[in-house]
Amino acid sequence: DLTPKAQLNEPALWRGYIQPRNPWAHKGTYGHALLIGGAKGMLGAITMAGAVAYRSGVGMVTLTVPEGQEVSLAGKVTQELIWSWSGKSVFSAESAKQFMERASRYSAVVIGPGLGRFMGEDKWLGDLLSTIKAPLVLDADALNILADHPELIKLRDSEYPTVLTPHPGEMARLLHCSISEVESSRLSAARTVANHTGMIVVLKGRYTIIAYPTGKQVVNIIGSPALAKAGSGDLLAGLLGSLLAQRIPANQAVPMATYLHGQAGVIASQTVSEHAVCYQDIIVALGKAFE
Ligand code: AMP
Ligand code: MG
Repeated sequence: DLTPKAQLNEPALWRGYIQPRNPWAHKGTYGHALLIGGAKGMLGAITMAGAVAYRSGVGMVTLTVPEGQEVSLAGKVTQELIWSWSGKSVFSAESAKQFMERASRYSAVVIGPGLGRFMGEDKWLGDLLSTIKAPLVLDADALNILADHPELIKLRDSEYPTVLTPHPGEMARLLHCSISEVESSRLSAARTVANHTGMIVVLKGRYTIIAYPTGKQVVNIIGSPALAKAGSGDLLAGLLGSLLAQRIPANQAVPMATYLHGQAGVIASQTVSEHAVCYQDIIVALGKAFE
């Protein structure tokens, strides 16, 4: 399935975007990432995504969780700002307007870590897609909503980059096929979705495939089975949101995040063994991966 356009993910593709920090910088210099998710029982996902975002250079991180969940976050997060939203009132015209207005103020937005389907209906995602004028990452249940409502895809302004980060199960739902069909033709599965949506697709798993709407494809071979644990995808989503918030162009931020995430998995397993790696080890190893 290798097309002439598939190339390996190498640091040469994006290394120029790892620059020393400007000595005159302040927290506003490096962008503000908004992460939306953290439903009941899945707060860990958004916590990990926020932690890795700060570990990869972003100036500020806001976590948006359903009303009530902010209390449970109190002891878990330190550096992040927290904004809770009421799932129901989002649909009253006034609060929907306020919500959308607020969501449009960030330099990148990630929708998905621990999102769940808590809203009971999915229309709010379409409202966000059309409102957010910044790079956007859609992961986890945000992808499942798109699979059920493909008509929402065209609401997204194609002027701003959108990155979809499905694992093979989410990809199978997007394509309405089986996981084994996805896995037996990973390059063409990713290419098809990138082509149909106009979005950048990151088909995760060993040998992550990045497919661009132009037809270009990049294969990431750096990684470790140490990453085969719940939470790894949330770390990738947070890392990607952080790089995009720092205004690294999406075409470079995506292979850079994928590579650094995989490399952090390799480094962490050399430090504490493949079996033992937990998200804290990945977050620490990310520093070495940047080096
Ligand atoms: P998720 O399934 O959403 O938690 O995402 C899992 C993350 O870990 C993705 O970035 C995968 O590419 C990565 N990952 C999982 N298993 C492996 C593996 N065996 N080798 C390399 N990367 C992996
Ligand atoms: Mg996931």
